[in-house]
Amino acid sequence: MKLEILGSGGAITTPKPFCNCTVCELARAGSAQDARLGPSVFIHGPNLLIDTPEEISIQLNRSSIEQIDGCVYSHWHPDHTAGKRVFEMNKDWIGLPPENRKTQIFLTEKVESTFQQFLGLKGYFDFLASDGLVDISIVKNSEPFLLNGYRITPVQMKLDFSFGFTIEGGNKKILVVMDELKAWVPNEVIGNTEFDLVYLPLGIVEVNPINGKRNVDPKHPILQYELTLNETIDTIKMLKGKKFILSHIEELDGVSCSMGQQLGRYCSEQTGKKVELGYDTLICDI
Ligand SMILES: [Zn+2]
Ligand SMILES: [Zn+2]
Repeated sequence: MKLEILGSGGAITTPKPFCNCTVCELARAGSAQDARLGPSVFIHGPNLLIDTPEEISIQLNRSSIEQIDGCVYSHWHPDHTAGKRVFEMNKDWIGLPPENRKTQIFLTEKVESTFQQFLGLKGYFDFLASDGLVDISIVKNSEPFLLNGYRITPVQMKLDFSFGFTIEGGNKKILVVMDELKAWVPNEVIGNTEFDLVYLPLGIVEVNPINGKRNVDPKHPILQYELTLNETIDTIKMLKGKKFILSHIEELDGVSCSMGQQLGRYCSEQTGKKVELGYDTLICDI
């Protein structure tokens, strides 16, 4: 298996339009690794796409992906779903009769019910399905399903509208949680599993431990409902993994590629585990 980071950003991309902060200016001038597009990863092997942010077409074009055999959604939030139109690329606009391609989409029961509630997501996917561009399978909230011989198991977060996924195959096991890790405590099975790779959200960097810069007012309500870096560090301590990658990095955190390396070393020291921060286009061999 290989995990390819298509986008390491969070709800707001880096650079943020019209922002002149140091990190945004660097991202505008620099390489793909200095910028952070919306949250998405691809798992080579099962050929599984996880989430489709607005920029997914750009991300797929610059990736090493040749074929998508399945797609899952972690949750309904717009930074993870707004690129849903990407599957219109499956339409044959020229041939007669048209030879459309079709992408298999797996939704947990809970994600499907939130797609019915929010942003018109269910209606849009039904439209794609009626055109034969996607096939939607509803899977149980915690039962595994198979893709290309790999076993994929949804892991329901404490914020129960959101899911991580364990992916197992070829004697390797990984855990991918895109977002909404807040207050999640791994169950015994997950806590005792030795993962080859664990992919988690960074959380809000309330105070940057490298340069001491406070990024968020201590009384700001975001700190009550959003995950923080210290909470992610606590979660890493509860998991067994050969390597941890932290991603879903918000523009407000001011994390350039080099600051990411320093924060990775800080998290490694705090947890005694191998931790790195993700960046766009990073490919991890597993
Ligand atoms: Zn998000
Ligand atoms: Zn900025």
